[in-house]
Amino acid sequence: MTHHRAALVLFSGGQDSTTCLAHALSRFERVETIGFDYGQRHHIEMQARLRVLNELRQQFPAWASRLGEDHVLNLGVLGQVSETSLTRDMAFQMESTGLPNTFVPGRNLLFLTLAAALAYRRDVSVIVTGVCETDFSGYPDCRDDTMKAMQLALSLGMDKRYLIDTPLMWITKSETWQLAHDLGERSGVPNGGQRLVDLIVEHTHTCYSGDREHRHDWGYGCGLCPACELRAKGFEHYRTLV
Ligand code: ZN
Repeated sequence: MTHHRAALVLFSGGQDSTTCLAHALSRFERVETIGFDYGQRHHIEMQARLRVLNELRQQFPAWASRLGEDHVLNLGVLGQVSETSLTRDMAFQMESTGLPNTFVPGRNLLFLTLAAALAYRRDVSVIVTGVCETDFSGYPDCRDDTMKAMQLALSLGMDKRYLIDTPLMWITKSETWQLAHDLGERSGVPNGGQRLVDLIVEHTHTCYSGDREHRHDWGYGCGLCPACELRAKGFEHYRTLV
């Protein structure tokens, strides 16, 4: 039964991974977080993740007691092997492969492998990640089949039963906002749903361009890059539902 008491969340400081973190905090007794510094253009997310952790601790006391260590790994090597608009100063565009040039080949595979290695040492068997097939299926390393294959490969390769938990896999961006609201509501904090949504709007970072100057209803960002477009559209739709 010690199996599923602890979880490690791949936490980038964005909307999706913050919702995944709330999901884990509502389910597991001990939750640790892992982030990766790989020379991303939106390096500002490394500061956002610290702010989010801090705000969660302050605003959601029941979760604060479950929130354990935060781990940051240096993955500068990713920038060395890939040439993409996430790691280089170039325009966002679609490639002839049909994939956006924000795709960093192997990124999620590497993230999951390192997360599992860390989870091994921390005696954690559940790895939570915010990958999703629904709204934006352009990334092959976000697919459900890829996650299942990784779960099997990591479990066999490390001789430890891992569970890769993907709470956002089949929901839309607006449903992700709704999920955050529901998790906040159940946190025991008065008006917790709205508070968690507000926290995500104000403190998480999604914009690929790293823009923290322009504030919209849905938070900070350039408003033009694919990540901003998706976040804005999802928020707009979510707001029509509540
Ligand atoms: Zn943007």
